[in-house]
Amino acid sequence: MSVLVPVAEARRRLVDSLKPLATESVSVMDAVGRVLAEDVTATVSHPPADVSAMDGYAVRSADVTKVPVQLTVVGESAAGHPWNGTVDRGQAARIFTGAHMPKGADAIVIQEDADVSGTVVTIKESSVAQRHVRPAGQDFKTGDVVLRAPKRLTARDIGLAGAANAAHVTVFRKPRVGVLSTGDEIALPGESVGLHQIVSANGPSICAFVRDRGGIDLHLGVVRDEATALRAALDRAEPIDLLVTSGGVSVGDRDLMKQALSTDDFALTFHKIAMRPGKPLLFGHLKGLPIMGLPGNPVSAMVCAILFLGAALDRLQGLPGAAPATLPARLGADMKPNDGREDYVRARLERAADGGLIATPFAKQDSAMISALAQAGALIVRAPHAPAAKAGDQVSTLILE
Ligand code: AMP
Ligand code: MG
Repeated sequence: MSVLVPVAEARRRLVDSLKPLATESVSVMDAVGRVLAEDVTATVSHPPADVSAMDGYAVRSADVTKVPVQLTVVGESAAGHPWNGTVDRGQAARIFTGAHMPKGADAIVIQEDADVSGTVVTIKESSVAQRHVRPAGQDFKTGDVVLRAPKRLTARDIGLAGAANAAHVTVFRKPRVGVLSTGDEIALPGESVGLHQIVSANGPSICAFVRDRGGIDLHLGVVRDEATALRAALDRAEPIDLLVTSGGVSVGDRDLMKQALSTDDFALTFHKIAMRPGKPLLFGHLKGLPIMGLPGNPVSAMVCAILFLGAALDRLQGLPGAAPATLPARLGADMKPNDGREDYVRARLERAADGGLIATPFAKQDSAMISALAQAGALIVRAPHAPAAKAGDQVSTLILE
């Protein structure tokens, strides 16, 4: 039997064998979730001038060191409507949040600290220079790099790019991913389901995963368990950047992926991983096309997608292809010692009274339990040969939601 490749080593090999796709320019309005390929540089400053942070009165701080004091209101500055006059000694200007500071004024007195009567305002609280003033460029200045590539753009990033006046941003192209299920028993949702058939979980779940992680999913249907049919389906794949299959990767007589790919034009990167679920996981290049052969068991397929397909999609989109983030949690139940494979244990996730996370492994860890995976809040990650653990012990968890 071939040696099992450790998870981290397999991810490294996978990521090393993939190159980021080409880049394209998209409207900032369409860029959320895309991976930035070029830094975004501000072409405006924010704020563009000194502005008020509050509604109130723009004053000369020297006039309001001793209070109460009466000032004459000589103008009004509102957001979008600056006032061109000057605040001289003994004067003030009515001002609103976001409005430009008038010349002469260097502080704001909030309206709660002022009584106005006609053109006279009585200032009841003293102020100092720059109080409630946002200086020009405090947030960012023209020429500042506000977003650094590579980075998957969040709604917050989009707001920043917009404010920096980047109408378009350069991002990596979306990977086109073909998704193929294998198995004589597999029907598709909505089809008539024969007595010996099951309905595909993997086609829908893998397509959804690809889309969720910034790819374009192309469902290529189901191919039967016959090596030449499978090979024909693999060869026929349209212009795509990655082909993901499910099923047929273990060592049963009817597991035909290896057989279909046992030709000189296929370069194997790895076939078996030291993990559970999902030991049989195949990756390689067929005439330059990356192929990921996920196991058929739906839980194994999805866990492998989380650990490896996610990294592949990230890499194609210009990101490093790092491992998913983990968080510490306390165990909600005892666990037996682990064997030589890295274990990803489906678990319920809760918050303890002290705010910490509690992960309780499900009693049944069958890799065909699609419902348990859907209900799991986390995967408890157990290192190879981890010793037995007690309820309350700290473990590492991969948060699913
Ligand atoms: P295989 O790796 O082809 O031996 O499949 C392992 C198990 O996963 C078998 O019980 C299959 O019926 C099941 N399986 C394979 N493909 C799918 C799929 N697309 N959806 C749900 N279960 C599947
Ligand atoms: Mg099969």
